Amino acid sequence: MTARPVVAVHEIGDWDESADVVVVGSGAAALVAGVMAADGGARVIALEKAAETGGTTRKSGGNAWVPDDHRTHPLGLADTRESALHYLARTSRPQSYSPHSPFLGLPEWEYDGICLFLGEGAAAFADLAEKGALATVPLPDIPNFYSAVDDVVHGRTLAPCTPGGDPGDGPELIRQLTGALEQRGGRIELEHRVVSVVADGERVVGVLAETPRGRRAVHAARAVIFGSGGFTHNADLRRSYLRGPVFGGCAAATNEGDFVAIAQSLGADLRNMAESWNTPIQLERAVAGDPALTGTFSVVGDSVLCVNRYGRRTMNEKTVYNEATGPMLEFDGARCEYPNMLMFAIFDQANYDGFRGTPFDGGALPAIGDDDSHVIRGDTLEQLAGRIDERLARLATATGGLRLDAGFTGQLAATVERFNGFARQGRDDDFRRGETEVERYLYRLVANAITLGTDAQLGSGATNQAASFGPGKAGWVEPAVTGNPTMAPLAADGPYYSVILAAGMLDTKGGPRVDAHSRVLTVGGNPIPGLYAVGNCAASPSGKAYWGGGGTLGPIITYAWRAGKHAATASPVASA
Ligand SMILES: Cc1cc2nc3c(=O)[nH]c(=O)nc-3n(C[C@H](O)[C@H](O)[C@H](O)COP(=O)(O)OP(=O)(O)OC[C@H]3O[C@@H](n4cnc5c(N)ncnc54)[C@H](O)[C@@H]3O)c2cc1C
Repeated sequence: MTARPVVAVHEIGDWDESADVVVVGSGAAALVAGVMAADGGARVIALEKAAETGGTTRKSGGNAWVPDDHRTHPLGLADTRESALHYLARTSRPQSYSPHSPFLGLPEWEYDGICLFLGEGAAAFADLAEKGALATVPLPDIPNFYSAVDDVVHGRTLAPCTPGGDPGDGPELIRQLTGALEQRGGRIELEHRVVSVVADGERVVGVLAETPRGRRAVHAARAVIFGSGGFTHNADLRRSYLRGPVFGGCAAATNEGDFVAIAQSLGADLRNMAESWNTPIQLERAVAGDPALTGTFSVVGDSVLCVNRYGRRTMNEKTVYNEATGPMLEFDGARCEYPNMLMFAIFDQANYDGFRGTPFDGGALPAIGDDDSHVIRGDTLEQLAGRIDERLARLATATGGLRLDAGFTGQLAATVERFNGFARQGRDDDFRRGETEVERYLYRLVANAITLGTDAQLGSGATNQAASFGPGKAGWVEPAVTGNPTMAPLAADGPYYSVILAAGMLDTKGGPRVDAHSRVLTVGGNPIPGLYAVGNCAASPSGKAYWGGGGTLGPIITYAWRAGKHAATASPVASA
């Protein structure tokens, strides 16, 4: 049988397996839903396409952004539902935010989703901790990503708590959740790619999965909950739905948007398909399809800047990662080109020596001994420009033939001179680099990671431990730089270096609209019986925003927590 997205129950013959709730995937979304369903008494089977559990969640920092967590109150971090609500609404849709409108200017479903998260997020995390399913610890110093428009500057990020009581990471989060699922009788089947749902009339009653041992039909008496991630690794869906030239991303390689066709075939109402959790990525590793690719969350260092193919600076290099891709997608209608599609990070020897192997840049400045083939070197700016252009020639099929402009070298020299002036005065008159709380925080984090001697990448426990430091805390050393610590003049003499960056994503955030229990809704607004969606395969109400460190997992875990509870009580259908 071909893998049609929806197969009628009479077509499949006997079921190979039966459960009350089938969850699809084994990232945070699927596992939390599975744990809660099992906790409610349901027999749960999780079907995971990859050969290991965890999906993108395993690669992640594991942080979750949750407003008004009770544990931050004793730390003196006042948070109110009202201020958080306005922060979420304003940052999700700044173009329509209206503080006095009924839904604050948001589409009603986004407003409802945000209110649900605000109302239940802290309770969901408290409940998961109480059940022994997921212990977390606050990282009170991490600023919100748009702190300039918020009453509360920091204090909403939680990290998974290791058995030793330290802040953990994505693997720790997966370890706890898989344990909690198994303790409740749930089972995870690896290398099970769900390719179809099985429907009895309008009701979803199971799935078909492709496995190395052939096709398996798994009955779901109460519910099928998709937690199958976004469509980062489906080039066709990326081209169709995402805006501008994005070059892929660092979601789990198995996140290919398998759910999109299934949801469409059932008449689901797809929303926010153009949105993603953005980050710059290294072009060459993305083009090569490196499964270990991770975000260049920050262009690390101080004597470093980014220029476009004309040698011009067009962005604040320290802008938080979700926003850093924005300038890369700008289109010049007159020239019919994306002039910033590729950004060339340019840095000097001091920056390379001082910041290589540090967190947040995804190996853009690799540790000594790591693969550095993507780092381009030149004794002079002119030689560097020539070598960048040679590299671009080799990448031409992936980039529409983009090359450096003939005036690049001259303009680059002028750009560096102007940047050096800003660095000396401690103020970036063009892009205000280093002025926001989060930019300064991330700079200090990187600088302190060096001081602490960690070569941690974002997504490791060591990074989260570094993140739990803060001004005034043990181990925290203020960088001995006056003025604006995020900027230092580039040296007058080479060598100079460059890394090619492009727009990418952690994963996409569009999918079917869901109700308050994460039941998938049709275009007409009715729940599709038996079908739920959680995590990055469902439409996120966050619009364009990435609210803070953990801004994806906070809402994802909250919604999945509700979905699992609800699915456990859904009325069952017989498997015969
Ligand atoms: C380096 C990095 C760091 C990050 N750090 C953070 C952070 O600290 N905080 C934060 O909030 N976010 C972070 N993110 C983003 C975060 O990891 C994701 O948004 C989140 O993990 C998504 O969870 P999910 O359960 O929806 O999807 P995933 O964790 O991606 O899980 C989806 C699973 O579904 C499986 N699957 C796909 N299709 C099928 C199918 N057809 N059948 C069966 N299984 C299928 C996949 O194999 C995968 O295991 C980070 C991302 C990266 C890459």
